[in-house]
Amino acid sequence: PAEAELEALQDADVARLLPAPSAESDKYRRGVVGIVAGSARYPGAAVLAVAGALRGGAGAVRYVGPAKDEVLARFPETLVSDGGPRKAGRVQAWVAGPGVGDDAEAVAEALAEEVPVLVDADGLRLADRDAVRGRTAPTLMTPHAGEAAALLGVRREEVEAGRLAAVRELAAAYRATVLLKGSTTLVAADGGGAAVRVNATGTPWLATAGCGDVLSGLAGSLLASGLSGRDAGSVAAYLHGLAGRFAAEGAPTVAHAVAAELPSAWRGVF
Ligand code: AMP
Ligand code: MG
Repeated sequence: PAEAELEALQDADVARLLPAPSAESDKYRRGVVGIVAGSARYPGAAVLAVAGALRGGAGAVRYVGPAKDEVLARFPETLVSDGGPRKAGRVQAWVAGPGVGDDAEAVAEALAEEVPVLVDADGLRLADRDAVRGRTAPTLMTPHAGEAAALLGVRREEVEAGRLAAVRELAAAYRATVLLKGSTTLVAADGGGAAVRVNATGTPWLATAGCGDVLSGLAGSLLASGLSGRDAGSVAAYLHGLAGRFAAEGAPTVAHAVAAELPSAWRGVF
C-alpha cells in the first residue's frame, strides 16, 4: 500500500502520548476505567482485563460483573460495583465484552453511556450495530481476524487476505475506531478515512489465551486517561507487544505474565 495509507508509531510518539500524572492529579482526574467482563464460565477474562487496565495509567479500575471475588482476590485495588454500568458511578471509559458470554444487557448498557467504550470479544458479537453507529462518544472495537470476519459476514481467510481493506470497512460500517489484531495490529480511525496505524512490536508468543483481554483493559485505561480511540488503541498495541516480548523472551508465556511486564514496556519507551 502507498505510504500515506499506513503509519507506524515511533517510540517518541508513544512517549508523548503516554499519560503522566502531574502534581495536580488525583485518581478521578487521571480517569476511572470501567470493566464489563467475565462470566461463570470465563472468570479469568475479567481478571486479565483488570490486570491490563491497572497497568494502563487510569487512576482507578472499576469492575462490574459476576467475577468480583476472583478479581478482588487477585487485585485488591479494584473497585467493584453491583448492577450494570448504568449504576456504577463515575467512569470515564468502559471496556465491554471479554468473557461476558451472553450478557447482552451489560454490553448494551455500557454502549448507552456517553463516554468512550471499547468493545471486544463476546461484546463484538453481542453489540447492536445501530447502537454502536448511533453513539455520540467514541467507540473502539478490537477484533481478531475471526471476529472481524463475523462482523463483516465473510470468511476469516478473506479478512486475512485483505486486512487493510477489512479494518477500514469495519471502521466505516460501525463509525468506530477499529483495531484489528494479528501478527501486526492495524488501527483504522473512526470512519476509516485517515492513515491506518500499524504496530509490529509483538511476538507470535502473544497468540495465547487471554492476551487479548489484557490488551482490552490496557487500551480502555488509556481511553479513560483521555487519549483518542486511535491513540489509545495504537499505544496499547505498542506496549502490549513489547510486554509480550519481555514476558516471552523466546519461550512460551501466559497472559498474566504479559500484564506484569507492562510497566517495563512503559519505562522502556522513555
Ligand atoms: P486475542 O485473539 O483476542 O486473544 O488476542 C491475541 C493477542 O495476541 C493480540 O494482541 C494479537 O495482536 C496478538 N497476536 C496474536 N497472534 C500474533 C502473532 N502471530 N504475532 C504477534 N502478535 C500476535
Ligand atoms: Mg480475544
